[in-house]
Amino acid sequence: MTAVPTDPTRLTAAEMADALATGAISSAELTQAHLDRTAAVDDAVHAYLHVDADGAIAAARAVDARRAAREPLHPLAGVPVAVKDVMATKGLPTTCGSRILEGWVPPYDATLVTRLREAGMPILGKTNMDEFAMGSSTEHSAYGPTHNPWDLDRIPGGSGGGSSSVVASYQAPLAIGTDTGGSIRQPAAVTGTVGVKPTYGGVSRYGLVALASSLDQAGPCTRTVLDAALLHDVIGGHDPMDSTSIDAPVPPVVEAARRADVSGLRIGIVRELTGEGFQPGVQQRFDEAVALLVERGARVVEVSCPSFAYALAAYYLILPSEASSNLAKFDAMRYGLRVGPPEVAHPSAEQVMAATRDAGFGPEVKRRIILGTYALSSGYYDAYYGTAQKVRRLIADDFARAFETADVLASPTAPTTAFRLGDKLDDPMAMYLNDIATIPANLAGVPGISVPSGLAPEDGLPTGIQFLAPATEDERLYAAGAALEAALTDRWGGPLLASAPDLAPQGA
Ligand code: GLN
Repeated sequence: MTAVPTDPTRLTAAEMADALATGAISSAELTQAHLDRTAAVDDAVHAYLHVDADGAIAAARAVDARRAAREPLHPLAGVPVAVKDVMATKGLPTTCGSRILEGWVPPYDATLVTRLREAGMPILGKTNMDEFAMGSSTEHSAYGPTHNPWDLDRIPGGSGGGSSSVVASYQAPLAIGTDTGGSIRQPAAVTGTVGVKPTYGGVSRYGLVALASSLDQAGPCTRTVLDAALLHDVIGGHDPMDSTSIDAPVPPVVEAARRADVSGLRIGIVRELTGEGFQPGVQQRFDEAVALLVERGARVVEVSCPSFAYALAAYYLILPSEASSNLAKFDAMRYGLRVGPPEVAHPSAEQVMAATRDAGFGPEVKRRIILGTYALSSGYYDAYYGTAQKVRRLIADDFARAFETADVLASPTAPTTAFRLGDKLDDPMAMYLNDIATIPANLAGVPGISVPSGLAPEDGLPTGIQFLAPATEDERLYAAGAALEAALTDRWGGPLLASAPDLAPQGA
């Protein structure tokens, strides 16, 4: 039986599930402990845009009543979860970090939210994000940035910095993120947490406000690899409401995370994603992590993916093109904000639309809409969008070749540790370069995980290692991730997050 410490928020989700099952704690108590933690620390972290205390407690009480009545329950029933604000939640505000959706309350739940509710998981609230998931720092949120729990002057990664930080600051054991170019994995790397981008189509996108439909994928943000697998198992699987959803069972991720077996696993080190451009301490921790896996029976092979050099360029044509089309629906007629041009007495629909989009979208969103509209315009379409799609094919071919000799690929997740808030805000190119290692997976639709690989010696901040697997072979990520986590936890004498500064030392 899991002993419940004075502060149950420190348990892993798997331990919480055990404590709930044995009656050591109720879901109402567990949920309240997380809400109390949020009250104590979130003024400083700003990971939530909206906290639903009443809804979460009501859901917790309902699950406690079902348990008392001995109804069959999902293993995670009663374990609370936070959801990125890009997901439609019935009755709860959904802003995507944008002014244009301020005040919009969806009339329906995203499929994955339905699955969380059906599993009996109380939803604590909606997490902060870069506006429409565009960014690597959450500084593009219209509601102010999230702060990294390791150092409040630093970025928590993006776009899902809210989801990584609620987990890193023990405000939630589990959170949902979305990853279009790295927004689950890069925030995980810089906050010392675990993040998984499942295979494209592995988790339903129905009810997720689209950024770039051919790249977007929702997935788990957690503190341990097993917790990520447990959450993946809840949200994954076929959904007839999403035509790109894979019609197959969820890969055996929980079993792989529990077995944590890498004997005979061939790890391909991607030559193009190491060395130059990576902070020395990030590279050092990566090399050590790979060596630990070799001690546990893995083999290392070197692979080359030459087309990865063009991934960023292709991504920044494909993403803005799809985004410019997806964001056309925010026209002041259907959702959220509506602004009339003050100087016009009887404005036309078009004038209201223009004034609303001007007031409602932030600079990064406008930049990408302009870029995408340009790339799709007649005369330029073939040169830009068409060429980018061909590069995408070459990147998928590189992956296919690499997976002939390797079972998983590995690289550092992000080139640096968390940078200071404000450092890259005025330099879009510098911001875009954070995703150099994560973007290829989105372009090819393959799954990826980021796992903590230790603190960089030069600044004492978290680093992450990324594993990538062939499409639909997500369980390989969990095997490699869990084996590394076990080896590193032994070495450190506990989880990496245990060495993070306590945000509320007075114990709230
Ligand atoms: N940082 C990348 C971008 O700005 C990735 C975003 C994402 O994955 N949502 O597009």
